[in-house]
Amino acid sequence: MVYPTLEALEHADRTPYEGTRYGRRGTPTTFALEEAVATLEGGDHCVAVPSGLAAITTALLAFLKAGDHLLMVDTTYGPVRRFCDVLLSGLGIETTYYDPLADVTPLLRDTTRVVYLESPGSLTFEVQDVPAAATAARAAGAVSILDNTWSAGLLLKPFAHGVDVSIQAATKYLVGHSDVMLGTITTTADTFLRVKRASALLGTAVGPDDCYLGLRGMRTLSVRLPRHQETALQVARWLAGRAEVTHVRHPAFGDCPGHAVWRRDFSGANGLVTIVLQPASKRALAAMLDGMKLFAMGYSWGGYESLIVPIDPAAARSATVWPYSGPCLRLHCGLEDPADLIDDLEQGFARLHAAS
Ligand SMILES: *Cc1c(COP(=O)(O)O)cnc(C)c1O
Repeated sequence: MVYPTLEALEHADRTPYEGTRYGRRGTPTTFALEEAVATLEGGDHCVAVPSGLAAITTALLAFLKAGDHLLMVDTTYGPVRRFCDVLLSGLGIETTYYDPLADVTPLLRDTTRVVYLESPGSLTFEVQDVPAAATAARAAGAVSILDNTWSAGLLLKPFAHGVDVSIQAATKYLVGHSDVMLGTITTTADTFLRVKRASALLGTAVGPDDCYLGLRGMRTLSVRLPRHQETALQVARWLAGRAEVTHVRHPAFGDCPGHAVWRRDFSGANGLVTIVLQPASKRALAAMLDGMKLFAMGYSWGGYESLIVPIDPAAARSATVWPYSGPCLRLHCGLEDPADLIDDLEQGFARLHAAS
């Protein structure tokens, strides 16, 4: 933004929302995306940032300072744990990891400023009682921050459950085409300025072309997500009947920890499924994975294509125990024909046996 006269510059609109007119604070495209995400999640405002991880770190830094205490869910997205253990601890901020199924009340201290939630949890989908934790946080004078990436803002409305700040890795379902990194921080009216200030001071600005692609993805979200859900449920049910599979983890399955809470609070599921296999050699696992035709091997999820990746849930937690010992795979079911995906997995199991 440039100003035609000195008077225009000195009397420029300096609302808290837009601040001075400078690209780092956002462009009209940024504001359009922020407004759309705030509406989707039922929040008051939203701040767009360049990645999901930037959304999390910016939100945490907005509310934490030296001497503060953070309650962090044990099933948080992996890099968040490293951010807490390396950067936050270096700043004198103490983190306690908690069981996603536990009541946080006894863990709250006088110095607890943030209760951080992710539901369902990364990799293993434990479903948290979000309203209970948000209420307990608020009663203790702490802010609740929820990683709402799994629901894409469509399947869970965090602000209706008392959450103060909801972040998303928009990289996943909002963008939906695996071609942009993008994060969003949606806030209440009360928490907005802290978050906006932190983002402005950290310089986490997003390019307008990325925001445009976020807006484009959102236009088809309500069509894509039910299809991901349907396909993942078909694939999960098929996997549950396979002898190679000892456990299928999906929030819609009755044995998923927190399943009853998922039924109470969520309006659906997405394309993710995690499975535990019978013990298998590395060679057999490689034979299965190396030959997949539709399930590409890769991290991330939320795009149109199916992905498969070996995971190690036991290594990603410190306050809880992963009760299974077999090799684990996380699947993201994309928008391909479910029968073709099942066929791809069936051939994969045949290779697994042949190499055993
Ligand atoms: C991928 C992911 C993130 C990080 O998002 P990026 O855009 O990759 O930085 C955060 N939370 C969850 C649950 C994720 O799956």
